[in-house]
Amino acid sequence: MKLKIAVQKSGRLHDDSIKLLKECGIDISNGVNKLKSEASNFPLEVFFLRDDDIPQYVEDAVADIGFVGENVVYEKQKKVDVVEKLGFGRCRLSIAVKRGDVYDGVNFLQGKRIATSYPVLVKDFLQQKGIDAEIHEISGSVEIAPGIGLAEAICDLVSSGSTLFMNGLKETETILHSQAVLIKNQQLAFPQQEILNKLLFRIQSVKKAKNNKYILLNAPNDKLDEIISLLPGMKSPTVLPLADKGWSSVHSVLSENEFWHIIEQLKQAGAQGILVVPIEKMIV
Ligand code: ATP
Ligand code: ZN
Repeated sequence: MKLKIAVQKSGRLHDDSIKLLKECGIDISNGVNKLKSEASNFPLEVFFLRDDDIPQYVEDAVADIGFVGENVVYEKQKKVDVVEKLGFGRCRLSIAVKRGDVYDGVNFLQGKRIATSYPVLVKDFLQQKGIDAEIHEISGSVEIAPGIGLAEAICDLVSSGSTLFMNGLKETETILHSQAVLIKNQQLAFPQQEILNKLLFRIQSVKKAKNNKYILLNAPNDKLDEIISLLPGMKSPTVLPLADKGWSSVHSVLSENEFWHIIEQLKQAGAQGILVVPIEKMIV
């Protein structure tokens, strides 16, 4: 019994999808131009597809699960469950207008033409804001639409904003923040669900490890209490005596978010020789 997963065949999500499976210890022979592949050390069959088709394939149970952008999941409105955010493929779906235009809020869009590949999400947004605008659905190169007179505004995916800039546009509204997610079929059978649980356990361990760092530092014993109180740790920090009397080595785990803030406080409290190392997997 195998779990069938759909991943993007080529494009922005392909490499990170394969990398995540690899970090989960799953080996996939990734032949060029292959449509299908099998993992050699995990009950997983991989289908390589266009990202737009992945929600449909998962709804129809051609694939049990898939890795795909939230933007595609919400636009396609297929009956699938979003199970886990994957932390890559981050972007936003934004409205942009010509740089020279005076944009004074969403009312600017009233009666205008908006070019987009995301008609469903744009329609929702306009409805929420009570704006009546004309949506022009185009499948690619949306950013050139204002320049060629097809529309006054666009709604497209943005990450750095450089594509907008190069096309003389400016970003004015964000309608969705997106990242890659794991979706699953809503009637997943038991053996597949069991394999998915194993995969999810590995994905969560990889994600946690990425968000955390292992920290080692030396502390004078008279400052130990203060330093330990600054460190969260998985349970409580490990404290080992150093050969040098009066000093201890302290080991702990810090999350990326609070990292710089806590390092500064540790230094102020008298910590020395602070080492920070990446964690490969983290099982809690
Ligand atoms: P396909 O051939 O599979 O249909 P595509 O051209 O539609 O590919 P890509 O450009 O490879 O799609 O983008 C795939 C996904 O990557 C997007 O749906 C989005 O979730 C994510 N993404 C992340 N950053 C960006 C970005 N700057 N522009 C577009 N997509 C991005
Ligand atoms: Zn696509």
